[in-house]
Amino acid sequence: MFPALEINLSAIEENAREVVRFCDSYGMQVVGVTKGVCGDPKIAKAMLNSGIHIFGDSRIQNIEKMRENNINARFMLIRSPMVSEIEKVVELADYSINSELSVLKKLSEASLEHRKSHKVIIMVDVGDRREGIMPSDFVPFLREARKLRGIEIVGIGTNVGCFGGVLPSPKNHDILRKLKEKAKSILGTNNLIISSGGTVVLNLLEERQSSYGISQLRIGEGILLGTDSTGNRVIPWLRQDTFTLEAEIIEVKWKPSLPEGSMGKDAFGNTPIFEDKGTRKRAILAIGKQDIEVRGLFPLYNGIEVLGGSSDHTIIDITESEVPLTVGDTVKFKLSYSAMLRGMTSPYVHKVYIYKN
Ligand SMILES: *Cc1c(COP(=O)(O)O)cnc(C)c1O
Repeated sequence: MFPALEINLSAIEENAREVVRFCDSYGMQVVGVTKGVCGDPKIAKAMLNSGIHIFGDSRIQNIEKMRENNINARFMLIRSPMVSEIEKVVELADYSINSELSVLKKLSEASLEHRKSHKVIIMVDVGDRREGIMPSDFVPFLREARKLRGIEIVGIGTNVGCFGGVLPSPKNHDILRKLKEKAKSILGTNNLIISSGGTVVLNLLEERQSSYGISQLRIGEGILLGTDSTGNRVIPWLRQDTFTLEAEIIEVKWKPSLPEGSMGKDAFGNTPIFEDKGTRKRAILAIGKQDIEVRGLFPLYNGIEVLGGSSDHTIIDITESEVPLTVGDTVKFKLSYSAMLRGMTSPYVHKVYIYKN
């Protein structure tokens, strides 16, 4: 059945093992981030087999799914909890990342009520401008937070590369080290975790061969795809043959490359721009933006170009395809992170698990 997303569990397992080995050598613990695959239990199992014992996901539903499927590990909610989901967070997640005192108060109340101790990582914004308190607010924040019972502040964390595209640097990690010193006197402990992520941090560590004081690294993309979107690189020591998308052709026709008629916007409100290449052989695939990020599809056969798509169709130019293609044939693609994410999320994309060494 198509479209199908083929998931090579052997390759993911091997990537996870390599990332664990790498992090071990720097004295860092790995949090395997499963949000890109909707907390898929088979994929989590592959990571578990490789020695990952703590999983991070942004959705509490995904954590619940992994628990229900007997993934015997600890779980970290890596998106700040919604107030409306606090009860579930305390029930299902061992850790969460936090940057709001009002949320910590709710977590504290819920933990006491459920007689649980919920572990908290305080997030600091070192430049990416997504979540986190500003470094200058850290001390007053911590003074308030430490008064709350039922929650245990176990670490300081940061995230880079996700929103602002900010690259990790010695400078932004030095901020965390300094804050750890300040936290030491406020909390009276020297065992605070310094948690960083995501995948783009690997690059910094490889280059300078230093951990910058980081003791925990949250990694998703590197394990799942062997790539680093923010650093714009293929990670040479990881495998990229993890996910393959296969979609079926429903129309093949020679058509002019330029549309004809007066132009409006496309179905998504964008103004499409086309290059005139004369008459071309084009194919339509039965997959679209509802299922995939069309710009994140990279054909595995030479001579195919992805032109674009609408909700349910993807248009490709096959004039120079190295393999002859006709209606009913399928085309295979490698995926970007966002294409993988949407493919995993779409119920219309069949998931096929394989083991290929
Ligand atoms: C997504 C995310 C990660 C993992 O990022 P990758 O680039 O996929 O490795 C780590 N931490 C947080 C808080 C995240 O949201």
